Amino acid sequence: MPLLEVESLAVSYGPIKAVRNVGLTVESGEIVTVLGANGAGKSTSLQAIVGLLPVQQGRVRFDGHDITGESTERIVRRGLTLTPEGRRIFAPLTVEENLRIGAATQGKGGDMAALWDQMMELFPILATRRKQLAGTLSGGEQQQLAIARSLMSRPKLLLLDEPSLGLAPIVVELIFDLIKRLRGLGITILVVEQNVHQALDIADRGYVVRGGSVVLSGTAAELKTSPDVQKAYMGHG
Ligand code: ATP
Repeated sequence: MPLLEVESLAVSYGPIKAVRNVGLTVESGEIVTVLGANGAGKSTSLQAIVGLLPVQQGRVRFDGHDITGESTERIVRRGLTLTPEGRRIFAPLTVEENLRIGAATQGKGGDMAALWDQMMELFPILATRRKQLAGTLSGGEQQQLAIARSLMSRPKLLLLDEPSLGLAPIVVELIFDLIKRLRGLGITILVVEQNVHQALDIADRGYVVRGGSVVLSGTAAELKTSPDVQKAYMGHG
């Protein structure tokens, strides 16, 4: 059984049908990417999956449970967490305070000290910035903090919404390396990306969303060589 199964998802903002028919699966241990132009409905899908937006039609199953319509808090406690687009960290709080807030939603039995040590090892820059206000961090540091904060809830599956958006190329590389390391730690990843090349380099499989629907899916290798993907997203005419 897949870890995440999204079936015929539809989501609207009032009269606007942002997501019409999104279906996808993520198996435990995979890195899966969702590609598509601005406004295709990727962020809306992720938000509906974690209960931040109401599911109008369709089903979301996670880890053997139907989670459609459940509260975000409950979904996070089940082990499904979203790092939203735009690095929504708490700017007036310190790095440490941001991470403690992330831990507030974690399930029972967590060894807080071990988790903290793991975060400091994964994100050494955050260790050096521990007492600094999050709003004073660079864009790349804020993105690392946003991911670290999500990890404090000990997710089985992490949804990442455009983690490389607006970052310098060297920082983008760091973020993609980090995603690969997370998989090594047993965390399954679903990542929405505009950096199609790099996303397909780290992903096992991918989906292409257009006009609110999944129009193409395949292995990363298949998508890389798909004329449709090359034409639309890779600048190969
Ligand atoms: P992006 O990369 O720009 O975030 P996306 O693929 O994630 O693109 P969504 O943000 O999910 O796309 O947007 C899908 C559609 O829903 C777009 O047409 C967008 O204009 C619309 N939309 C998004 N948020 C809202 C909102 N709060 N109210 C009304 N319409 C919205």
